[in-house]
Amino acid sequence: MPTPKIARHIVRKPPESALEVRHSTVHGQGAFAARNLRRGARIGHYAGQRLSADEVAAMDWDAALTYVFGLSDGSVIDGSDGGNATRHINHSCEPNCVAWEIEGDDGHLRVEIEALRSIVAGSELLLDYRLQIDEGRPEDYPCRCGAAACRGSLIAAAPEAEA
Ligand SMILES: [Zn+2]
Repeated sequence: MPTPKIARHIVRKPPESALEVRHSTVHGQGAFAARNLRRGARIGHYAGQRLSADEVAAMDWDAALTYVFGLSDGSVIDGSDGGNATRHINHSCEPNCVAWEIEGDDGHLRVEIEALRSIVAGSELLLDYRLQIDEGRPEDYPCRCGAAACRGSLIAAAPEAEA
C-alpha cells in the first residue's frame, strides 16, 4: 500500500487576550487592556445566559438590579450567568469601547465589543452602557464616571426610536 499523503492544516494560535480583570477605581472589578489595542481591535464577545423576550417578561427582575445587553429581537444576554471577562467592563460617559450587535452565521444575534480608539496597555476598558429602562427615572441610575461630559446617569441620553 502506498503511504498516504497527509496535508496538515496550519492552526494559528489565538491572539493574546485583549483584557484582564482587576480592581477598578471606577467601580468594583474592572476590565483593563492587556496590551496596546488599535482602534477597531476586537476585545471579545459578551457571553452569558440568553433569555427570549417572553422569558424576560416573565422574570422577576426586582430581585436584584441586573444589567443585561438588550438585542434588537427583544432577547437579552445576562452576563452575570455564564458570562466572560467582558462583563467586568465598567460604564463611562466617555467610553473607549463600543458594543456592536452582530448577526452570526447561525442567525443568532451576539454582542461584540471592540476598541473605539487606540487604547494603551493597562488602561481601563469602558463602555457607555446606554441603559434603557421601562420604569423609574434616570436619576435612579446615577453615574459618577468623572468624565467631563458625564451625563450623571447610566441611562441613554436619547432613547432610540422604536422601529
Ligand atoms: Zn458619567
